[in-house]
Amino acid sequence: MKQFIEEMEEYAKNKNVPIIEKDSITFIMKYIKLHNVKNILEIGSAIGYSAILMASVAEDVKVTTIERDENRYMECLKNVKKAGMDKKINVVYQDALEINLSGEIKYDLIFIDAAKGQYTKFFEKFKYFLADDGIIVTDNLKFHGYVGSKKKIESKNLASLVRKIEKYILFLKDNEEFETKFYDVGDGLSVSVRKNKAR
Ligand code: SAH
Ligand code: MG
Repeated sequence: MKQFIEEMEEYAKNKNVPIIEKDSITFIMKYIKLHNVKNILEIGSAIGYSAILMASVAEDVKVTTIERDENRYMECLKNVKKAGMDKKINVVYQDALEINLSGEIKYDLIFIDAAKGQYTKFFEKFKYFLADDGIIVTDNLKFHGYVGSKKKIESKNLASLVRKIEKYILFLKDNEEFETKFYDVGDGLSVSVRKNKAR
């Protein structure tokens, strides 16, 4: 397993696939263990690196992960098979903003790690599928150090993306429904929980 994980890290590095940083996935895995998380929804599978690591925490952890890019989806499927986790990880090939979840399953953890410009949309869409005491984790809130820094950004696309992440952070800070903590691990993580759990 360890060697396989390293192979995926190597592949991601060579092919420029933005997989989660070590500190961040360690942080999430600890949470899964500590809180007995069973059902996880991941937005943005890439090659399955984070899904496989989250699923590896305990026997009864199940992950549904959504990916819209065909090549990455195929690569993810392949890796999930290799890890022997086809029973634990359900890989869905679709745009997460277009998916219709049945609503039968409520997730203990929703991991938002897809298009950075659409974080608010993902949050607003998938919060309905969160268990009452579940958490929504978002990755890359520092966006490689660009967010909140005075660094001059030349590219217009990049600048616009950074503004969107900054808006998302404000959206979380001002949210009436959810309380969010921000963590300076990896590329910046947030953990959001419902404020009013007894309803
Ligand atoms: N969670 C992975 C990394 C995901 S990278 C890991 O840490 O191992 C982000 C992925 O989200 C990319 O592969 C991209 O294709 C996918 N993505 C972006 N927007 C999406 C959307 N709207 N629906 C589904 N997947 C999306
Ligand atoms: Mg990420």
